[in-house]
Amino acid sequence: KGEFTAPCNKFRQTDYDPSRPGYHPVDHACWKPGQKVPYLAVARTFEKIEEDSGVLSQSEVNAIWENDLLCCVYLCLNQLGPAYLGMELGVGETVLMKAVAQATGRQLDKIKAEAQEKGDLGLVAESSRSNQRTMFQPASLTAGGVFRKLKEIASMSGNSVSMLTLVGLVVLIGRSLAGKLRIGLAEQSVLSALSQAVCLTPPGQGFPPAVIDAGKGMSTESRRAWIEEKSLILKQTYCEMPNYDALIPVLLKEGIDQLPNHCKLTPGVPLRPMLAHPTKGVGEVMKKFDEAAFTCEYKYDGERAQIHILESGEVRIFSRNQEDNTSKYPDIISRIPKVKKDSVVSCVLDSEAVAWDREKKQIQPFQVLTTRKRKDVDAAEIKVQVCVYAFDLLYLNGESLVRQPLSRRRALLRESFSEVEGEFVFARSIDSDNTDTIAEFLEQSVRDSCEGLMVKTLEKDATYEIAKRSHNWLKLKKDYLEGVGDTVDLCVIGAYLGKGKRTGTYGGFLLACYDEENEEFQSVCKIGTGFKDEDLEQHYKFLKEHILPKPRAYYRFDQSAEPDVWLDAVQVWEVKCADLSLSPVYKAAMGMVKKGISLRFPRFLRIRDDKNPEDATTGAQVRPIRRTGRSY
Ligand code: ATP
Repeated sequence: KGEFTAPCNKFRQTDYDPSRPGYHPVDHACWKPGQKVPYLAVARTFEKIEEDSGVLSQSEVNAIWENDLLCCVYLCLNQLGPAYLGMELGVGETVLMKAVAQATGRQLDKIKAEAQEKGDLGLVAESSRSNQRTMFQPASLTAGGVFRKLKEIASMSGNSVSMLTLVGLVVLIGRSLAGKLRIGLAEQSVLSALSQAVCLTPPGQGFPPAVIDAGKGMSTESRRAWIEEKSLILKQTYCEMPNYDALIPVLLKEGIDQLPNHCKLTPGVPLRPMLAHPTKGVGEVMKKFDEAAFTCEYKYDGERAQIHILESGEVRIFSRNQEDNTSKYPDIISRIPKVKKDSVVSCVLDSEAVAWDREKKQIQPFQVLTTRKRKDVDAAEIKVQVCVYAFDLLYLNGESLVRQPLSRRRALLRESFSEVEGEFVFARSIDSDNTDTIAEFLEQSVRDSCEGLMVKTLEKDATYEIAKRSHNWLKLKKDYLEGVGDTVDLCVIGAYLGKGKRTGTYGGFLLACYDEENEEFQSVCKIGTGFKDEDLEQHYKFLKEHILPKPRAYYRFDQSAEPDVWLDAVQVWEVKCADLSLSPVYKAAMGMVKKGISLRFPRFLRIRDDKNPEDATTGAQVRPIRRTGRSY
């Protein structure tokens, strides 16, 4: 213990323990102020977080990583750059195995066999290392160095990655190379940790910083409220500019308060979409919105399309997940000049792209849209036509509109574009507070092949500030009214081997919802119905590539429902359920109800490619979805 309080230059990397009680970001670091952060410090932090069931205690990352902060953040998130740029390592498992073989002098087939047995190449690399003397010295690897190498690898095509580059890295970081390093650091935790760090250690103080804890002396309560308030600035700015390359330098130089003045919504950079809350009926809508004026819009059943028109004239289209869908919709892009008024130089539109039957002049079901090619579509070969239903305008001619109320944004939208039937239309809406009128509009929306209504306030709490109110809009679906239960989006975390007709594939699956607070996946039901034979084949082919040797530390489940194989939480399924029940076996919404909640009679509907595992339905959302009025 005495050693830790000694001057920095005596710190030994081997003793580094970021989880020690009272960890001090300067005194207990294993590098000197101003020195580059050793990769070992990052790896050790990850190890601790992994051990601690994936829950991050924020004080652990409250380290002074100023000179390497950006790359440490990316390493924490296991990303190489902003998610919307889709940078992936793209180094295959076989190439990695060859690199491990070369680095350790062991034979390839031995490595292969051991990887099969251990289920993780990183572990094989680690155990091989102990037999090898020619390894790189861990001390010589810095966090920044590792990150730059990873980026370098990502930018090369698979074959041209130099074996030497890989060999130098593989032993220490085999796991993140294979893209498997998932330490449970969800974005929200990273953002909270970052804001805490910059609040407590404000910028511009040199090394070592004069102030390590600017909140010293505050009561626990006011300290928490202060950090939370600041954290909202970062979170909201991140929603509008989800790019740490832009945010972190400003955070470090100007501080958190200045962030919104430097990092703004920019056409070409997708922003987080506003989502909606389910409601059970018109009565509930009236109660929730009270006296506030609201509008009801058709809820179209297609794919969200965030359309960006850049000053250069270039048009880009992003999905709900901020993926670049530009090459999927050359038809939408080509119609933009026709529908946009001359006054529009740049803008960001929020809309739904819906399959459209040109002959019958009507909306087609969502399933038709899914048959459309996803990438590099040739406009001449398009069979499934789409109509764009625009419902919001978030940016216009150099001005962000996210802080304007919907009434203003909608007026600008309608002024700035013209409708063309079957190509570009404003979402149908009524502004009424008459229950009967709304109920009739809901019926009409379903007759017009929509899912129901989206209800949005027009003035009060009507900005597009996602971080402040993650569920500003309400959705009113026909299904809820009929009491058939809603659909939920769940993550597959395990599978049961098929029997009888299903031998050779998986016969059932363990599904989980996501718990935002604890950042864990909580088992919610076993599913075996709703699958066509080809679904089962497809699931087997895809999921067997994601088998885990043991469940992740952040899976919550009961031993009695253990699947035959554990799977990495990588895919989200939409599932229809009849009802919920309390269950000692399933873990959804644990803590909110006495036992866990389980879904009854779940039926598979489809894969939700547009959702990340962390976008799965949460335990808190599962709870109110009930057919009967009984509440837990
Ligand atoms: P669900 O699972 O209910 O189909 P979801 O989970 O993808 O929807 P929700 O928050 O439930 O997302 O619903 C919002 C989605 O509805 C939006 O992402 C958008 O794609 C779609 N949508 C259709 N019409 C509208 C509209 N008028 N306003 C806003 N969103 C709309």
